[in-house]
Amino acid sequence: MKINTTIRFYEELNDYLSEDIRRQDILIDTKEGNSVGELIYSFGVACAAVDLILVNGHSANFDYILQDNDQISVYPVFERFNITSVSLIENSPLRNLKFICDDHLGRLAKYLRMLGFDTLYNNDYDHNILISLSNSHNRILLSRDKKLLLNKKITRRYLVKQAEPGEQVREVLEYFDLKKNITPMSRCLECNGVVQQVPEESVKHRIEKYIIEINDEFTECKGCGKIFWKGSHYDSMMKRIRKIVD
Ligand SMILES: [Zn+2]
Repeated sequence: MKINTTIRFYEELNDYLSEDIRRQDILIDTKEGNSVGELIYSFGVACAAVDLILVNGHSANFDYILQDNDQISVYPVFERFNITSVSLIENSPLRNLKFICDDHLGRLAKYLRMLGFDTLYNNDYDHNILISLSNSHNRILLSRDKKLLLNKKITRRYLVKQAEPGEQVREVLEYFDLKKNITPMSRCLECNGVVQQVPEESVKHRIEKYIIEINDEFTECKGCGKIFWKGSHYDSMMKRIRKIVD
């Protein structure tokens, strides 16, 4: 007996599908006894990229056996906020998002740091290191390389579509709904360390006297020890941030 089901993939899971079936209900016949995991796999979608399966509105596991007329919705590991609010997921994966950028996304990494997001980047990281850091730190691997992201070992991934870094950061903010989590100047652009306010006393021996005279607020990177004050580059950076966010 044939089982008729309807399946729909959400968000970046569509990247795995051929263009004619993206972002729509797909009607499909399967054999009796097939699991929803087998069905998903038959579309070429890596199971590691899937976080949530809803069958007729109820959350289901990969080994759920398909029944006639099932309506299946498949969501990626990092769904948008609006899905979480309506879905039945337990242990929602929403948390403090952390990123790792591949070796082609150095400028995106700096932008994300500038906005306060914990973002690893080093152009020496090869694919194996990227995947292992992404998994061990629970970092979302950002890449424009589809082949890299198809690696089944990756559990958190996002395929960046835009080519220009300013557009890329807007894309990531929008996709993960991060605008309200922006904390400008809270992270070091060079090393990703946390930047904190420090008393003048603790830094004055390390910077020029005239800077001390015209500034009364200083911050320091806990990673590399770099000291910051609100000089002219601060204003230009805030301007850039406003341009990205607005
Ligand atoms: Zn630093």
